[in-house]
This record gives sequence, structure tokens and C-alpha cells, in this order.
Amino acid sequence: MDGPMKRVWKRKYLFSRKILRRGCSDLVGRPPIGISCERCKYSCSKSVDNVTRNTIFEHFWNLEKAVQQREYIADLVERHQPEKGHPRKRFTQTYTLRHAEECHKVCKKFFISTLGISERIMRTALEKGRRRL
Ligand SMILES: [Zn+2]
Repeated sequence: MDGPMKRVWKRKYLFSRKILRRGCSDLVGRPPIGISCERCKYSCSKSVDNVTRNTIFEHFWNLEKAVQQREYIADLVERHQPEKGHPRKRFTQTYTLRHAEECHKVCKKFFISTLGISERIMRTALEKGRRRL
């Protein structure tokens, strides 16, 4: 692996370390992989094709600073208050992928695999990203 991909991987690695303050190789994500979203209500793989996913992936990992990456994630994940009278008082979150001024709602699995992050990195990013607001 060399050239731009190597740079992306290096940045990913540094970002994972920075965001978690601890090095852990399995937290370094992979480039977008084909995931099956046929039964998902958003039909993610139909609304966002692999070329777009790669562009989003590269854009994300080309952000210079960890704080920019956290803000990018925090910006795309929206938290909703639970409906009144809902038995579980938990927030629901919606995930959006943005490309060329177009927004696509996707499921969590598709979101994190497109950005090539782990769920833990996403949660950390949301906590840290929101604290600043
Ligand atoms: Zn999906």
C-alpha cells in the first residue's frame, strides 16, 4: 500500500489514537466495504453507491484534524427526543451521509462502515463533538 491510501491509513491511525488516547490497532477502520442493506428500511446501498461512499470516506479521512473529524460526525448524526409516552426513555439517532449537497438517510451500520470507523469511535466523537457546542 502506498500513495494516497497510505496517507489515509496513517491519518486514520493517528486519529484513532488521538480520539481514544490509546493505540489499538483494531480500531483503525477499513475502507468502505460492501455491506448488505437489502432488508434495511433506508435501502442504503441503493441510495449511496460505492463510488460515493469512497468519496465520502476519503473526504472524511482527509480532514486535517481530529476535531474536524469529530465535528463532521457530530454534524451528520442527529439525536431525537423520544416520543412522549414512549416506554423507553432513550434517544434515537439518525445517520446521514452527505455528498455533493445531497443528504441520504442511512442506517447506523452503513454509516460507520462508510466512514470506516468503529462504533466506539463514533460514540467518542459524538460526546466530544457535542461538548463543544
Ligand atoms: Zn441500511
